[in-house]
Amino acid sequence: MKGGEKKIYEVIIIGGGPAGLTAGLYTSRSRLNTLLIETGLLGGQMTTTEFIENYPGFPQGVAGDELSRLMEEQAKRFGLEVVSQDVVEVKLEGDRKVVKTEEESYLCEALIICTGAEYRKLGVPGEKEFAGKGVSYCATCDGAFFQDNQIVVVGGGDSALTEALYLTKFAKELTIIHRRDALRGTKIYQERVFANPKINLLWNSVIQEIKGDSVVRSVVVKNVKTGEVNKLNTEGVFLFVGLSPRTQFLKGLVNLDEAGYIIADEDCETSVKGIFAAGDCRKKLLRQVATAVSDGAIAAFAAEKFLEDKK
Ligand code: NAP
Repeated sequence: MKGGEKKIYEVIIIGGGPAGLTAGLYTSRSRLNTLLIETGLLGGQMTTTEFIENYPGFPQGVAGDELSRLMEEQAKRFGLEVVSQDVVEVKLEGDRKVVKTEEESYLCEALIICTGAEYRKLGVPGEKEFAGKGVSYCATCDGAFFQDNQIVVVGGGDSALTEALYLTKFAKELTIIHRRDALRGTKIYQERVFANPKINLLWNSVIQEIKGDSVVRSVVVKNVKTGEVNKLNTEGVFLFVGLSPRTQFLKGLVNLDEAGYIIADEDCETSVKGIFAAGDCRKKLLRQVATAVSDGAIAAFAAEKFLEDKK
């Protein structure tokens, strides 16, 4: 509403992954006037996950984009309003929260932050230079470009293992480079990785540099135990070395931990009354679709209670 009086929402949700869509479903069904602001695709990380097999209710698993679509449809069915904009700042104005995007400024009584997390960068020479030219952080987006190629995957967590398994659809041969001698990811994924004839594991190793010409040609790998340095020819370098929360725009407003995750209580309320956090951006033990959905429901219910108590 440029120029005119601003509409005040009872609830604004920032982020439309499983946490945000669930929060939106709950607040809309409670007939709270809600706006969800999402910068990318609704569904968040689910949209770039080929297959999800640990979300209850889908005994054969479900494609990530299909689960996104179903959650979106369910939330919108109850009237959730969605805009596609990038939030740059949140401020307090008395009791109200002001959410600034690049285009607009919105006001609300209760705010639910569900901004999730993004893949961390490795920080080695060549990573920036070859981004999109062989270096990738998304197997479902870029895997098909590496048909019959050599691929390396860096990391030992669930992302590295599940994405490596997916990439064997395309790769001629795939090497997982992990800095330790034991994987962090879930045992069932480890079993599948060890059983896959296309996958080699390079233990106790780190990438020092990514090299190429117009595209990636090789990586320089160091064994951290022996100090030995070798060149490994590869066309694709997929990096899955953990996540960083998308909370930079909240600095100084709510309490964050040292890694930038939002500190919230068991009702998902942050250090500021009426501001809640749900999903991967929150400090917690387990980051999965199931726990994001749970947070979204709790945050929505807590926001509703907060609004009732204010009356
Ligand atoms: P993660 O669990 O934090 O694993 C990151 C991996 O990268 C670790 O193996 C870590 O090594 C390695 N690493 C970190 N920094 C590195 C560096 N500078 N150089 C080399 N290696 C480095 O991250 P994630 O795998 O992205 O998973 C994030 C969350 O999403 C987890 O909670 C995970 O369970 C969840 N997730 C679940 C599924 C699923 O259930 N299907 C799929 C994807 C993600 P160390 O092991 O030595 O620390």
